[in-house]
Amino acid sequence: MSKTKRVYFFGGKTAEGKADMKNLLGGKGANLAEMCLMGLPVPAGLTVTTEACTAYYANGGKLPEGLMDEVWEGMKKVETAMGMKYGDADNPLLLSCRSGARASMPGMMDTVLNIGLCSKTIPGLLKKTNNPRFVYDSYRRLIMMYADVVMEKAEGLDFGIRKQLDDMLDDYKHKKGYKQDTDLTADDLKGLSEEFKKKVKAVIGIDFPDDAAKQLEGGINAVFKSWNGKKAVSYRRIEHIPDDWGTAVNVQTMVFGNMGENSATGVAFTRNPATGENQFYGEWLINAQGEDVVAGIRTPSPLNDATKNDQNKHLPSMQELMPTTYVELDNIRNVLEKNFKDMLDIEFTIQEGTLYMLQCRVGKRTGVAALEMALDMLNEKLIDDKEAVMRLSPAQLDELLHPILDAADEKKYTVIAKGLPAGPGGAVGVVALTSEKAMEYRAKGITNILVREETNPEDVEGMRAAEGILTARGGMTSHAALVARGWGKCCIVGCEAVHINLEKGEVKIGGKAYKEGDTLSLNGTKGWVYDAAIKMIDATENPRFREFMKLVDKHRTMSVRTNADTPEDARNAINFGAEGIGLFRIEHMFYGENSEEPLAKLRNMILADTTGERIAALNELAPFIKATAKGTLAVMDGKPLTFRLMDPPLHEFVPQTEEKQRELAKEKGMAYEEIKKRIDALHEVNPMMGLRGVRLGIVYPEVSEAQFRALFEATAELLKEGKKPQLEIMVPLTIAVTELKNQKAICNRVHAEVETAFGVKIPYLYGTMIEIPRAALMADEIAEVAEFFSFGTNDLTQMTFGFSRDDVNAIVHKYTEEKIIPADPFNTLDQEGVGQLVQMGVARGRQTNPALKVGVCGEHGGDPESVAFFFNAGMSYVSCSPFRVPVARLAAAQAAIKGEKR
Ligand code: PEP
Ligand code: MG
Repeated sequence: MSKTKRVYFFGGKTAEGKADMKNLLGGKGANLAEMCLMGLPVPAGLTVTTEACTAYYANGGKLPEGLMDEVWEGMKKVETAMGMKYGDADNPLLLSCRSGARASMPGMMDTVLNIGLCSKTIPGLLKKTNNPRFVYDSYRRLIMMYADVVMEKAEGLDFGIRKQLDDMLDDYKHKKGYKQDTDLTADDLKGLSEEFKKKVKAVIGIDFPDDAAKQLEGGINAVFKSWNGKKAVSYRRIEHIPDDWGTAVNVQTMVFGNMGENSATGVAFTRNPATGENQFYGEWLINAQGEDVVAGIRTPSPLNDATKNDQNKHLPSMQELMPTTYVELDNIRNVLEKNFKDMLDIEFTIQEGTLYMLQCRVGKRTGVAALEMALDMLNEKLIDDKEAVMRLSPAQLDELLHPILDAADEKKYTVIAKGLPAGPGGAVGVVALTSEKAMEYRAKGITNILVREETNPEDVEGMRAAEGILTARGGMTSHAALVARGWGKCCIVGCEAVHINLEKGEVKIGGKAYKEGDTLSLNGTKGWVYDAAIKMIDATENPRFREFMKLVDKHRTMSVRTNADTPEDARNAINFGAEGIGLFRIEHMFYGENSEEPLAKLRNMILADTTGERIAALNELAPFIKATAKGTLAVMDGKPLTFRLMDPPLHEFVPQTEEKQRELAKEKGMAYEEIKKRIDALHEVNPMMGLRGVRLGIVYPEVSEAQFRALFEATAELLKEGKKPQLEIMVPLTIAVTELKNQKAICNRVHAEVETAFGVKIPYLYGTMIEIPRAALMADEIAEVAEFFSFGTNDLTQMTFGFSRDDVNAIVHKYTEEKIIPADPFNTLDQEGVGQLVQMGVARGRQTNPALKVGVCGEHGGDPESVAFFFNAGMSYVSCSPFRVPVARLAAAQAAIKGEKR
């Protein structure tokens, strides 16, 4: 036997595991143990550890030696706890075999139920239950599931046995004129089971095992195997779950929700996972097994009044039909929330009136729900404010800032169908009928709605690629609904007006046919579908969002600024909570709105042939710079604003085609040949490494001088108006302290001139970007002159990797796909490599000047993972685009809280 314990018992009111053993026992196993310890009714069972799964793969995909002996040893305890025996002829115990990884992966791995039914145990079960219909229904389910999961998938085969057996079942029902599975009699099911076994033998070529021990071994093996199944692997890639974590296997005594009208099964959330409301929320089915609810095969009934909606209000609730058991379940809900201090997702079964808990785990929720629950639980004193801040992931916050359908526009259209509002928000896109099509559209940048018959976890990649999801069947707790909600996707399920015909490539909604490519809009908050492109709006002005962000700021120690270059953007960013501007790119005034005039002046400057011509052009350009600078400084009154000296790759600002060059020549009253000659002279093989940044100011000092003067004059005027401008001037693309000194000399002279002319003292800081590896290396010297650093991680990434920012996408895509690099380094900072330069730059800079202000203004300043890294590197601030400011604030607060915990 192995020295390490690989099998953990739970049952009765005891358990060998507990809630904090998730890494070893998986989420499900750890919580089953915890529920036993809490004294809740849990059928006894065993958890085979995730380490055993790792050992399984190390052993070439075979159960490690001795593992089954440990399982059989553990089974003795299970049998004692339940008073039944596995494989026994008189009093047989049946088992389920379920996966359970550290992180929840709903529906992505396989399950086998009713294990242990065979010719030896069936007579005993018939006698014991006196319910032949139930026994044969359980048996046919076992054959269907086992053949599919253990005999086919785990063996890497692909016969589609499940579908073939499903078709046999449907044909049989059709022949008999039955509508529902429940119409099938005991004899029907007995006959079908025999037919199923013949089919399995005919298709797979092996007999369905008529042996309880073999069945259990097959089940455990298959669950381990499903860790590497296609959908599980896809899900892990999307959710960044490491491949080597492995899954645990939970072998648990079966209890039956399909024993008749006083049996049932259900799934519930201790609070509403879509809205966050503090109401018990769930779905149940009478006379059914758990898979019927989660697989979305039957549209389930509401648990209680709070769960009723237009689609299910005619169906009986548990609260009405089984009031005593409902109260018992509602009490368990309260006990669980107090113990776990979070919203939980639970699975339960009622066997002939007795309630059993089969699972509980922290429930997936939408961003809105996460926000509501965090604040409610704080008010209920279930959690403290630090915990509340930790409860909303940056991605969920981001989702909150995402658009919804514009209610005013929505009113103009007629709802064509209604379904269950499984994932809120809005989505507009074209119909995609398959996962592949959704991915294809996505790759082309076409937003799409994935429309499917039922909620099928095989579609995980298509669901990811879609803007919204619409399904004909399934309930709010179906796996697809859970997954969509976890991702904050707009999703409508159980929309019965939807009929898909894949052969014709169309979907009929309320009688009208739509093809792939036709547009739909979804209101996922209400469950409404439209066949028009409805306008979308932002969902920010939520008072609870503001309340939450106050808590965030209470725990945040690092500043968050924004990258903005106009007064409007600055105003917008302040609204999002920006505490300053970390990067004002002066050259941005030459793009976009109202840029024609300044662009014409800039071109004159670029194309100037002599210093005199250039100075003349600059004199005309300077008022534009001064006006934008002044306007933005006024908006930022009292908050710091970093202006970066122009960093334009010059060729971007002059026309490249002959036609445009001829137009420019005409405008300027010059010969085309002359214009062409001057533009050609600007040509650089690699302009990103050419005449950019500070180099421009060194080659043409008058260009820097004009900018210094414009900035100082704008500041001086505001000071005289009684404002509090906080000017910071930043030099880009620096490689040496000598560059900074060179430019500082000009700056000092202009500063003195403007102070004298205006008769005011103009305070300001003079700093630099660190965006070339050499600057990080020389940071100690650079800090002798620079009063602040701002890491330009875009260029720093470009130059550290030698990846061109502008055209490396295809390579980076391949590299991430092949796992050569873990992520696109232009989105998420490469902590291992570029991160070293950042840490070194900070350390060397502060060695010279311990009070040195250090920030980041590359795109990574808005990426939550990178923000946490920057916090730990000791940054004073990060700066990102206005919309990402709230996310950066949250990431910074969470990093601070985690730092304290450490
Ligand atoms: C950077 O390089 O990270 C940066 C902020 O500058 P830009 O993106 O303008 O080159
Ligand atoms: Mg840069």
